[in-house]
Amino acid sequence: MEFKNFIDGSWEIGTDTTTNINPSDRFDTIGIAARSHAEQVNQAIDSAFEAASSWANTTPQQRFDILDFVGTEILARREEIGRLLSREEGKILTEGIGEVARAGQIFKFFAGEALRSNGDHLPSVRPGVDIDVIRQPLGVVGLITPWNFPIAIPAWKIAPALAYGNTVVFKPAELVPGCAYVLAEILSRSGLPDGVFNLVIGKGSVIGPQLIENKKISAISFTGSVPTGKSIAADCGARLKKVQLEMGGKNPMIVLDDADLDVAVEACLNGAFFSTGQRCTASSRLIVTEGIHDRFVSTLSDRMSKLIVGHALESTTQMGPVAEVSQLNQNLDYIEVARSEGGNVQGGERLSRDTDGYFMAPALITETNNNNRINREEVFGPIASVIRARDYEEALTIANDTPFGLAAGICTQSLKFASHFKKFSQAGMVMVNLPTAGVDYHVPFGGIKGSSFGAREQGTYAAEFYTSVKTAYVMP
Ligand code: NAD
Repeated sequence: MEFKNFIDGSWEIGTDTTTNINPSDRFDTIGIAARSHAEQVNQAIDSAFEAASSWANTTPQQRFDILDFVGTEILARREEIGRLLSREEGKILTEGIGEVARAGQIFKFFAGEALRSNGDHLPSVRPGVDIDVIRQPLGVVGLITPWNFPIAIPAWKIAPALAYGNTVVFKPAELVPGCAYVLAEILSRSGLPDGVFNLVIGKGSVIGPQLIENKKISAISFTGSVPTGKSIAADCGARLKKVQLEMGGKNPMIVLDDADLDVAVEACLNGAFFSTGQRCTASSRLIVTEGIHDRFVSTLSDRMSKLIVGHALESTTQMGPVAEVSQLNQNLDYIEVARSEGGNVQGGERLSRDTDGYFMAPALITETNNNNRINREEVFGPIASVIRARDYEEALTIANDTPFGLAAGICTQSLKFASHFKKFSQAGMVMVNLPTAGVDYHVPFGGIKGSSFGAREQGTYAAEFYTSVKTAYVMP
């Protein structure tokens, strides 16, 4: 397959190309992807700018019909697109299909949002005056996404951007052009006028600065790593450009003595290792109190060692490959760092298969402390470390002692501790007796501290980012 750009309603080859390989099977070439240069990015921005005013003035019904069409088609094709996603990114097929279904639901949700009133009508302190708070589109938005959720994250940016009347230039991660292309192909048949949605595939270091520097782009929504996010924030700040960042995490999961052991093990197994641990919300720091520590570690380690690692499309596989070789090497390096810091490592070895994919065993590292590098830096792989805590108070202090603040979880049967944790854990999303990594699509998503910057994503809160507010005073 050839994964082309979509600019001003036309499919265009890149100025250059790259080859897209299956991380489960390096002999499987998925497609040839465009690699765009500055001129194509500027064409996409110009076409989105030209289309902005008429798209902003479409009726809510027109926007509903288009987004609903996209959601319906994605849901109908979830198995086929899910296969492509698993082949391209490496998550197992059930997760791939689930992610595609999520993308369809997001488009359906924002189709409905296009019909909702988004403003406010308020009384004035002055007699006879009415106040309307009106939400208006921003214009052209630049959307930059990572590889680990190649269709859900684009959906949760593209759908609200269009629903609230903005036009879009979308830059997906280089590793997953196939999912971006399929999404663009569906959008191209949805009735969107030319220029409203544009796809430019290619290198972040080339396309990103073009999007940020161009005055025709009003806002940037970015999901990805902290270093890239920080440089985007600085560049947008210098231009007073609206920006939204969703970045990394080092998410704690506290397991208290009174936890249901099965619930805790299940939550940590899922939170740490599903999707090969490549989730910003992964439970990477397991903070376990003394009374349950040994039972918890031995049960989790037993369950972890039985996870079947293999080709993402094989029905027996429970954990697929790492998405790319540099990420695999980074994971293996972190395991050595943890070992050198005194951690006791179970699993974590490189696994070879005849397909030459990027496979490794999941790893559990015990006897670590919160100052170890493995507990301070985001690894982004199937690696969880265990930190002992005396009691809830110490566990909470450790959980909050991190530069990140995306998700945090606790396993306990105590309402008192659960309620306290909900209030005092320093994270944007808090889970009680649930993995840190599972979220709904109709509620706010995002973190605090070094994990996020700007308005929340998803649900009705997305309007905060994708619209600006105008306050109108009227004396009838
Ligand atoms: P990354 O920062 O390397 O890349 C993200 C995107 O930014 C890609 O499209 C990339 O091409 C682009 N990019 C690279 N350089 C750029 C530049 N100079 N200017 C503009 N754009 C540029 O991240 P990744 O490796 O693709 O994804 C993994 C990271 O994403 C992890 O840190 C993970 O925690 C984070 N993530 C966060 C969330 C969240 O919602 N908080 C969700 C998923 C992933």
